[in-house]
Amino acid sequence: MEFKSLVELCESLEKIAKRNVMIDMVADFCRRLNEEEVEPAISMMLGRAFPKYDPRTLDVSWATLSKVVKRLSGADWEIFHTAFRNTGDIGAAVQAVLEKRAMRRQSTLLEKPLTILEVRRIFEHIAEIKGQGSKDRKERLLETLLSRATPLEAKYIVKIVIGEMRTGFQEGLMEAAVSRAFSIPLKEVQTASMLVGDISEVAYIAKRLGRGGVLNLNFKVFRPIKPMLAYMASSLNEVFEEHGGKTALEYKLDGARIQIHMADGDVKIFSRRLTDITRSLPEIVNLIKGEIKAREAILEGEVIAVNDEGKPMPFQHLMRRFKRIHEIDNAARIIPVELHLFDVLYINGENMIRVPYVERRDRLREIAGNIPLTKQKITSSLSEAEEFLREAVNEGHEGLMAKRLDSPYTPGIRGKHWFKVKEVLPPLDLVIVAAEYGYGRRHNWLSDYYLAARDGDRFTVIGKTFKGLTDDEIADITERLRKIAIGEEGNRVIVLPKIVVEVAYNEIQTSPKYESGMALRFARIVRIRDDKSPEEADTIDTVRKIYESQFKRKAKIDL
Ligand code: AMP
Repeated sequence: MEFKSLVELCESLEKIAKRNVMIDMVADFCRRLNEEEVEPAISMMLGRAFPKYDPRTLDVSWATLSKVVKRLSGADWEIFHTAFRNTGDIGAAVQAVLEKRAMRRQSTLLEKPLTILEVRRIFEHIAEIKGQGSKDRKERLLETLLSRATPLEAKYIVKIVIGEMRTGFQEGLMEAAVSRAFSIPLKEVQTASMLVGDISEVAYIAKRLGRGGVLNLNFKVFRPIKPMLAYMASSLNEVFEEHGGKTALEYKLDGARIQIHMADGDVKIFSRRLTDITRSLPEIVNLIKGEIKAREAILEGEVIAVNDEGKPMPFQHLMRRFKRIHEIDNAARIIPVELHLFDVLYINGENMIRVPYVERRDRLREIAGNIPLTKQKITSSLSEAEEFLREAVNEGHEGLMAKRLDSPYTPGIRGKHWFKVKEVLPPLDLVIVAAEYGYGRRHNWLSDYYLAARDGDRFTVIGKTFKGLTDDEIADITERLRKIAIGEEGNRVIVLPKIVVEVAYNEIQTSPKYESGMALRFARIVRIRDDKSPEEADTIDTVRKIYESQFKRKAKIDL
């Protein structure tokens, strides 16, 4: 197929806002492509010279690109600048300068039209050029390509080279188009795309082998997969209810999630965001090579930073490991890490994601060698679960993960198969000492409250929240606060310390914001405690004790 058809499709997409119409047009286009054209065409429409998993890159800078365009157009570069100012689009600006040239020379009309496959082949040649003088040679090839293109085609070649299509047609819509083009349910296309990591490859298989081929697609080692995510549990009770009375609890370690791919002695490590961090964790690479008993595997685990006594250190310390690319050995010595494995997605050609959690865990144990798995307890007892949570927190970990025994691994999805259960710090009874008017809907209400703990015979602020109360309660409390107002500072109303509220929070942090030096993180009002007088509110000493209890479990070191 001619490259022109792809370009005209992209031009139309740019002008259409209706998703359904866009999807139909692209589906129709995909159907008309032949087998070899499917992957290159889809990659290009998504602004890629090559598929996502392909390590090849063009390595053409804007400096090189603009040099070629200047030479080809011979035009006054002001035209480019004006067009760029007007459209904000480099591709369109290149088109504008080349159109000026086209008016002078008509040579493109005599050339054979470019095809999609020819454009791909030239991209391949450009990517292959390496070593001395490569810049000049890349430049010449690019010039050949652009000199054969019409100005409109050049617009899109430039967009692909710089990787910015701006047609509004992203990967998700492409999945819908492929589903429609080849009559395969969208869910199946999405799953396949998640497994192989690129919709262009799924489309190729759909064209070649149909639905059966797509259903047979599998993971590929060294292509990262989106991680399964967890839902925040409101309580252990909720977990037992959702998981049918029995669940697998695991320590929730406060580190960094890693996805480990290995095949035939090679190891790659990916972060939660799927970037390659292999070079930051050389000792983990060696550990995997030495311990894992499989030829091929995709594993998941958490790396945590530990101190000399093996106690977990706060998360920030671990993050330093990922920033220090140049002094890895040094950083490895200062910040030792420990790996705990918790899942396996693939072993020796076998896709494990539909295998129930308990079996995956057994298989993981079989191949893990001496690498520890996250500590686990399967239980149906609430008191045992509470005890396990306390144990995890006392050992310095974040809390627990609760995993449904028969659950599959669902990449990229946050669902209730996995719950995270964090320790609940005891709620505090605090006094409202000031309040601010809200915004928007709440602009007439005192809806943002300063919360204070008792400090001798005064009150000291440790937090502020607008969360937790219903509209009725806010209206009611506004009335009450107005009656006890003693002063105003801008938007803030200072009140007599009369109203006690029970406040939940996630953490107590040090903070220069308040005189107390401490601040509640994610504070929310649980209820108004009219049954309590301000004299019964919690003291700043209690707050300090809770603050310090957080550190008893975690190693506190200064690096
Ligand atoms: P969150 O990031 O708060 O959504 O919690 C989920 C994260 O907890 C995962 O992405 C992992 O990095 C981490 N995690 C720690 N321990 C475990 C475990 N045993 N199983 C699964 N995830 C864990």
